[in-house]
Order: sequence, then C-alpha cells, then structure tokens
Amino acid sequence: MAKAAILEQVGGLTIGEVELADPGPHEVLIDTKACGLCHSDLHFIDGAYPHPLPAIPGHEAAGVVRSVGSEVKTVKPGDHVVSCLSAFCGHCEFCVTGRMALCMGADTRRDQTAAPRIMRADGSAPVAQMLNLSAFCEQMLIHEHACVAIDKDMPLDRAAVIGCAVTTGAGAIFNACSVVPGEAVAVVGCGGVGLAAINAAKITGAGKVIAIDPIPEKRALAETLGATHTVDAMADDAVEQVMKISGGGVHHAIEAVGRQASADLAVKILRRGGTATILGMMPLDCKVGLGAMDLLSGKKLQGAIMGMNHFPVDLPRLVDFYMRGLLDLDTIIAERIPLEKINEGFEKMKQGTSARSVVVFD
Ligand SMILES: [Zn+2]
Ligand SMILES: [Zn+2]
Repeated sequence: MAKAAILEQVGGLTIGEVELADPGPHEVLIDTKACGLCHSDLHFIDGAYPHPLPAIPGHEAAGVVRSVGSEVKTVKPGDHVVSCLSAFCGHCEFCVTGRMALCMGADTRRDQTAAPRIMRADGSAPVAQMLNLSAFCEQMLIHEHACVAIDKDMPLDRAAVIGCAVTTGAGAIFNACSVVPGEAVAVVGCGGVGLAAINAAKITGAGKVIAIDPIPEKRALAETLGATHTVDAMADDAVEQVMKISGGGVHHAIEAVGRQASADLAVKILRRGGTATILGMMPLDCKVGLGAMDLLSGKKLQGAIMGMNHFPVDLPRLVDFYMRGLLDLDTIIAERIPLEKINEGFEKMKQGTSARSVVVFD
C-alpha cells in the first residue's frame, strides 16, 4: 500500500492509497523520496491537457530503488535514482539517431492486456500512470529506461528537480542551442525551467544573460543564478531594452513560460541568425511564427521537448555540476512540503511569485 495524491477529477488532488504491482522483467520499484511540483502537472490538474482519470501526476522525482525485475541491468536495489519522463525504447529512429527525447517510449509501458502497474488500494480499479511515472506517490513502478542512478552523496530533494525543470532548462542551453561562450542568451520566464536555463547559460560561458520576467522576486532569483541583466516582461519597451543590452538582439532566446505572448517576445528579441527555443507547454491552439523578414534574416524557431535530453548521460553530469558548486539547485527550490500540502503548493505556483516547491516523503 502506498500513499498518493490522486487526480480523481479535474480541479485538485485527493490524498488516498494505491497498490503497486510487482516489477515486471524490465521494471523498477522505487521508494520515492522527493518530487517537484511542475507547471505541466498543473495543466493536467486544471484540465487544459486531458488525461484518463483517476490518475497520479508527478514526474520530477528522486528515490531509492527497492526492487528490480529479472532483466533489469541499469540499476540495482539500494541505488539512488532520478526519474525522467523521457522514457526511451533504445531502438527506434529517434533513439538510434541520438534524439531519444523524441522517442515515443514504445515498450516502456505495460501492454493494455497486462495487469496495470497501479490499482486502487482495494483492487477494484486501475489508476492511470501519468507520463509513465506517477511520482506523487510513496512508491513508483517504472521502466528501467525511465530512471538513472546518481551519486549517493547527492541530496535527493535537490536531485528531484533535475528530473524535469533542470533537465529541460539546462538541456535547452547545452543540447538544443549548443550555446557558444560569449553569445547573448535571453530567457523569458524565471520559474524552475527558466532559472535552470539561466544557470546553464552562465556555466557554458554565455556573454550577456538576460532574464525577462514580470515579477521582481523572480528577477532577483535570476540574478543570483547568473543573469547579467534583467528586464520586466510587462514593460512597454521590453524588446527595446533587450536590443540595447545585447547590442542588436540575442543569439538565443529561450521561452520557459508556455504563453503566446512570451513565445512571440522570444522571436522579437532575436538578432540576425538567432534562434528562439520554445520550452513551455502552450495552450493547444497556440501558434508561434516567423515573419518574412525574420526568415530573410536567417532566424530560426524550434521546440526542445525536455531540453532534448539524453538523460542517462545528462542527469549524472548535472548532479556533478551541483556537487562542484556550479549548478545552484538550492536557490531553485523555494520550499519543501509534505504530500498533504500539495494542493496549497499548486495554489502558490498559480500566484507565480516563488520558485520550485518540492514534496518530500519521510
Ligand atoms: Zn515537468
Ligand atoms: Zn526509441
């Protein structure tokens, strides 16, 4: 029996109990130790992105392996692991061409005909596993290709946020943009993802690092993490300010909000040949575009789901960056809360003034 925050119906989470199955051949049972609250969870909780219910959200987690299936080779009981929603099959076109973040994870879920991984505590009905993880639960039963072992010295609450926000933000800089030292980077939105992008831009040796956010507290956090300049996103002259700071536009603009206006802003602040990278989950009917002059100026626009990670390689490196004092996860985490306070945590996220909340399990 495991305690979980269950999405019974759109609007909020209910604390309840579920029963997890025994690990199948390629599955891993993990005692969850921490799970960050991600904006993407909120899209499912408030119904913007539909999902079969009941379901357990949560996808930014770290824990300790309890048991493994007979064929599992990559982790063993006792290992400390970070989970990742980019479960990969290892043999599709995307995997074999090094773009595993695009893999649809074909064999990483259980067959429709097999017993479900998660059931109601009384065994009466299945509970849907969200993003192949369902980490707002004391235990997770996941495919071995959905987690990676990390250094045991790494604190697990800080390891958790690497699983989504930091992988996405840092991955955009390292993998999707391949930022060259000295280039100008602007980040629109300074939540967990945006702050990680700013921190990664600093690590990679970017020149100007411009943080754009409407909230003063978040702009201050951005400066702590490495922003050289900040701009109020709501200022009438926000574009002009970025143009002036960067001497004619940035080489890379990262959108880390998921709103039409912030995506459009990311395109507007590019210099000739610059690239806008959209990370946020925008409402499903949104479209971002490049105009004729943008195209004639060699500007580019790209998505970078989950920072185009190769997480089994990237996550241990990010852990190493933290251990060496390069990656500042302490500033990204605003508060640690028990599972029972999860709805309050999401309310705080809606207000948008603080950085990451992390659920910790004892
Ligand atoms: Zn997330
Ligand atoms: Zn694949």
